[in-house]
Amino acid sequence: MDLNLTEEQDMIVGMVRRYVREEILPLELDLDPDADELQPEDRERLVEKTKEMGLYGLDIPPTYGGPDIDLVTRTLIAIEMSQHRAGLYAPCYGTFGGAGLAQLFEATDEQKEKYLYPTLRGEKRGFFGLSEPSGGSDPARAIQTKAVQDGDDWIINGGKLWISGADKADYGLVFARTDADKGRNGVTCFVVDTDTPGFHVRRIVHTLRSAHYATELQFEDMRVPAGNILGELNRGFAIANDRLTRQRIPYAAGCIGVAIKAQEMALEYVPQRETFGAPLSTRQAIQWMLVDNEIDIRQATWITLDAANKANQGQPFRKEAAMAKLVATEAGGRVVDRCMQMFGGLGVAKDLPFERWYREMRIRRIGEGPNEVQRHVIARELLGASLR
Ligand SMILES: Cc1cc2nc3c(=O)[nH]c(=O)nc-3n(C[C@H](O)[C@H](O)[C@H](O)COP(=O)(O)OP(=O)(O)OC[C@H]3O[C@@H](n4cnc5c(N)ncnc54)[C@H](O)[C@@H]3O)c2cc1C
Repeated sequence: MDLNLTEEQDMIVGMVRRYVREEILPLELDLDPDADELQPEDRERLVEKTKEMGLYGLDIPPTYGGPDIDLVTRTLIAIEMSQHRAGLYAPCYGTFGGAGLAQLFEATDEQKEKYLYPTLRGEKRGFFGLSEPSGGSDPARAIQTKAVQDGDDWIINGGKLWISGADKADYGLVFARTDADKGRNGVTCFVVDTDTPGFHVRRIVHTLRSAHYATELQFEDMRVPAGNILGELNRGFAIANDRLTRQRIPYAAGCIGVAIKAQEMALEYVPQRETFGAPLSTRQAIQWMLVDNEIDIRQATWITLDAANKANQGQPFRKEAAMAKLVATEAGGRVVDRCMQMFGGLGVAKDLPFERWYREMRIRRIGEGPNEVQRHVIARELLGASLR
């Protein structure tokens, strides 16, 4: 892999970096430290800017009007976009638009009309409902929500847990067991409108995340037409897995961006702050924290770009994506923690972004598949048939 950026990548990275510094960081001076949304007028103005930059609708395939960007460039952009206080869970406050649920690009024409296009126009929102109270690490075995066929409809009973944004969604993807005897080949993905009778949603008490409530869902005799099956019957798990593998790369990149910003702030601060008659930067204890940060950031960056590069080239990248998620979430946590320490009391004050990053980064070792499960995925790839 060529470690140098192409001229185009260099230009795009520079453009996004300026955007974050000139547009997002000044707005954050006046926003609540836990905010995850901009004022509507600021949002509108900034969406116009990202459109002018040619980067609006980042994850939307070009055939649907999104920019033509490969995954390495997308990863570089994600690293830049997260370099501000809300960067982990609301990078640039959504002003680059979003593709919503990527699985809908595989939907039927009718499903696209009803769910995909309104989502791309910003008129509808969806949720991704995989995890259940019985466990999220191994959903293929844990899913207990059942769908039973009744004429042209399916009747769904069960529940989901930890589902992000379902309280504000118009529809969502619900993974349900349609064949009890077939394990991962007995799960089907249904697109479900949140106003369907029998659909109940409840916000869970806040997690460490500043905004975006997680929710609990209950389905009671919820009737869903067979036309709302996404993909094929009993093949829902393949849809879920594909999304989760790809998603791990920008997820890792967000952690790297935050770590880069934290390190930049520490490098500016320690030469200015004096204790015992000398700047902090002259103390070896501090220098070593900065060195360890730099190594953590570099390792995570190259491992994540390697995963993006493999995916770009159409090579298998499950192991690499798992490594990127694992390394970047753990490195990001260590870097933010060390920077907090260097800033002393200020490090834990809400005036600076460290306390939000510290809380939200902790979730990253659990969300999108806990890191122990990533290790399990990597071990399975390394050991191959001998484990089966
Ligand atoms: C804020 C937040 C938002 C979320 N949003 C969504 C969402 O939108 N949609 C959705 O479907 N899910 C969502 N989740 C769920 C998330 O994906 C699950 O929490 C995660 O997969 C872990 O599942 P679990 O909590 O049931 O833990 P469990 O499956 O019970 O696992 C508990 C712990 O056991 C350990 N462990 C598990 N397996 C192994 C193993 N093989 N070897 C060693 N140790 C192991 C890990 O440390 C793991 O953290 C969200 C979670 C959070 C916290």
